[in-house]
Amino acid sequence: MGSAASVSETTVPDSSNMGSSNQQGTTDEEIEEMLKSTLNTNNETQDVNLKTPERKPKKRRQAPEEDKAIETIEQLLKDTLNTKKQTQDEHSFAEVQETYPIPVIEPVEVSMAFDTFLHVDGSLYTCFTENGIMMYFNDTKGIVPFPEDWYSQGRFINGNNEVSSKPLSSESKQMIPSLVEDERTGGLYIPGRGMVMTYMFEDRVNICKYFHSDSGTWLVLPLQWEMNIDFIKRRVWQVKEALPGLVDYKEITAALRQCKYDADAVISIFLSIFGDSLLKAPEGMENFRDTNYFRDYLQKEQAIEDLKQQLKMKCNEVENLLLRNKCLQKVNDHMSEMIHPLTQRLAELEIDQEESHAKIKAMYNQRHKTLHGKVIIKKAGSFIEPEILLEVSKITRALNISNKELSSTLKIRFSEMEFLMKRLLNPVFKLMEAALSSAQELEDMRSLYKKEALARKMLYNRLQEMCGNVRVFCRCKGYSPTTSCIILPSDEELVLMYKGSKKKFAFDKVYSPRSTQEEVFEGIRPIIASCVDGYNICILAYGQTGSGKTYTMMGSEDNPGVSIRSIRELLHLCNERPMITYKLKISMLEIYNEKLYDLFSKIPKSSLEIRNQGKTVVVTDLTEFEIKTEEDIKSITHLGEKNRRVASTKMNISSSRSHLVLILRVDGTDKVSGVKSHGTLTLCDLAGSERISRTEALGQRLVEAAAINTSLTSLSQVFKAIKGNALHVPFRNSKLTHLLQPGLSGDAKACVFLNISLDVPNYEETITTLQFGSSVRQVALGKATQHVTHNTEVKSDN
Ligand code: ADP
Ligand code: MG
Repeated sequence: MGSAASVSETTVPDSSNMGSSNQQGTTDEEIEEMLKSTLNTNNETQDVNLKTPERKPKKRRQAPEEDKAIETIEQLLKDTLNTKKQTQDEHSFAEVQETYPIPVIEPVEVSMAFDTFLHVDGSLYTCFTENGIMMYFNDTKGIVPFPEDWYSQGRFINGNNEVSSKPLSSESKQMIPSLVEDERTGGLYIPGRGMVMTYMFEDRVNICKYFHSDSGTWLVLPLQWEMNIDFIKRRVWQVKEALPGLVDYKEITAALRQCKYDADAVISIFLSIFGDSLLKAPEGMENFRDTNYFRDYLQKEQAIEDLKQQLKMKCNEVENLLLRNKCLQKVNDHMSEMIHPLTQRLAELEIDQEESHAKIKAMYNQRHKTLHGKVIIKKAGSFIEPEILLEVSKITRALNISNKELSSTLKIRFSEMEFLMKRLLNPVFKLMEAALSSAQELEDMRSLYKKEALARKMLYNRLQEMCGNVRVFCRCKGYSPTTSCIILPSDEELVLMYKGSKKKFAFDKVYSPRSTQEEVFEGIRPIIASCVDGYNICILAYGQTGSGKTYTMMGSEDNPGVSIRSIRELLHLCNERPMITYKLKISMLEIYNEKLYDLFSKIPKSSLEIRNQGKTVVVTDLTEFEIKTEEDIKSITHLGEKNRRVASTKMNISSSRSHLVLILRVDGTDKVSGVKSHGTLTLCDLAGSERISRTEALGQRLVEAAAINTSLTSLSQVFKAIKGNALHVPFRNSKLTHLLQPGLSGDAKACVFLNISLDVPNYEETITTLQFGSSVRQVALGKATQHVTHNTEVKSDN
């Protein structure tokens, strides 16, 4: 390592001057031996750690006596050799040494490595490491520790002028040279080893030279020739034998040169680089080339890389050019598209230009002709004929006059228009006012209409209240003077005679057996009308079996009863009021043994449920049909009756054992006021009210009779509760009363037909029916006292 320069190293003579004696007949070994003996131990000083005399080390460049000694030896050698050639006298180096004794430096036992520190102030200091501490020689103080802050105030310089800012540890010194980044540093690719760092070291080497007799100087022997010298040959073969993989002699010779002709060093270097692969002889020439000509390989690889880069760049360029070409193509296309109309336009313009030229020419010719021989006024380079000038001024004057006339006319017209506008404004305002007032009138009329409608409804309601919210009619059947027990003194009274006693009953109307269906319906017509106004109406037929309930309610096809007529009336009323849109929906159900059956359902459902929804009740899943015409009434009621018959057969009963209920929902929307009304008409043909004993009921009949009794008793209890203003009205005691709840409570209107038979055998049932009717009527008259009538028992005259 060159970095470990020592003081004594400077005393070593250049070895390149050795070995020159082989030209003089002496062998290399002899010369080497001779030099060794001449220079004594000095050759050993080339090692890194040299034995130096124990004295204060001098600064490297401050040893002129040593330099002088080397120069003296070189000169001596030259002179000796020259003298030998001339005089053929043979002098040994030993003689020379005797003549010019070289001062001998005594070796000491201390082994120490020195560094030279160059301070920024220009002073050089010799430093060394002792027990891991850096020391330096101070001129005055002697050996003192190296100041820490000096590291930043200078640099270390080794023997070969290699510089480092801080000396490395002894271990590091062996591993990595202290180098500076300059042209001596470099990198190299070695196959199998990758990139390695290189550095051009300045080192002392043996150089093989030949003696040039013409100039009398030693010249360096070229490599090719050097190989043939036995001294080299031996070493080459030594390397070749150790490393059969190395075939190139030149390569080996060159390596020997580098390693101061030390064959072992060459072997170890090659082995360290290429490994065991060199221990085998190459199979062919190619392997040999691969191993030894890695420089070519490296260069080729570099060249390939460069070419790749170039290719990439070229590819990019080509791509760019293609892109540009594409753009240009597009521009070109666009231009050629544009050129076509432009050329057309140009041609047209050219034609126009030609025509214009021709016209101008013609005009010019014409003018030239007219001007010929006349007096012309020259003005500013153009000629104007005075006559034309006169004509022009005349025309201008005339135009001015007409312009003034026109503007005055316009002014007049404007003022006229203004006047008319003013006149028009008044009627327009009046019209607007009228329109506004008519709108107001319309609005007033509308509100008046609303008020009137409300008043009408209220009046009607009051009338109904005065007449009673529950109206009771009695209809008699089967009059025979011999068998009858009833006398009808007026159309509101009825006297029942039986076994000498007379009972007088008063109802809203008593219909004789001769009364027609029309007459009976007339009694309830006004109530039906209030349904259209949004009231809940309930019409019941009460009486024993065969008393004419079904006849009264349904009637026959030719002579329909109350129900059919009521639906017709509703339809009629709805159609009569075009200002309100109505929707009429009908459903039909039967209550048998306290169970509800939908008579419009194709599949008869068992036991429909009744649910309360606010003030109204709803039967779940009940089928509803909309009625629009009278035809609908027929077909729908037929369907209901048909289903009732089927159900009755299944249940093994006659229709008189169940309650038949028809529900009509009338929903109206006033087109003017938007008021909505919801009225319900419930028509109920009750089951026969006869007592169980009378029917001699057993088994199923007994169950039926019990159910009927329950529902009819509930009905009377409900009426009683309403009559007594009870807090709780037991509507839910039976399915019948629950279903009829909306028609029997609040502002609803009820109408009960008492169907009685006038025959004596039916006396008991008749009296029960009449008593029921009487109690119901008391309910109805409870609100208006003046109309209160009581049941009066008239004693028989006899
Ligand atoms: P209910 O339904 O109360 O059991 P119906 O209405 O079936 O009684 O009447 C039994 C019979 O009496 C029927 O044939 C019916 O036509 C007839 N009938 C009932 N009332 C009258 C009446 N006012 N005029 C003529 N016939 C009647
Ligand atoms: Mg009946």
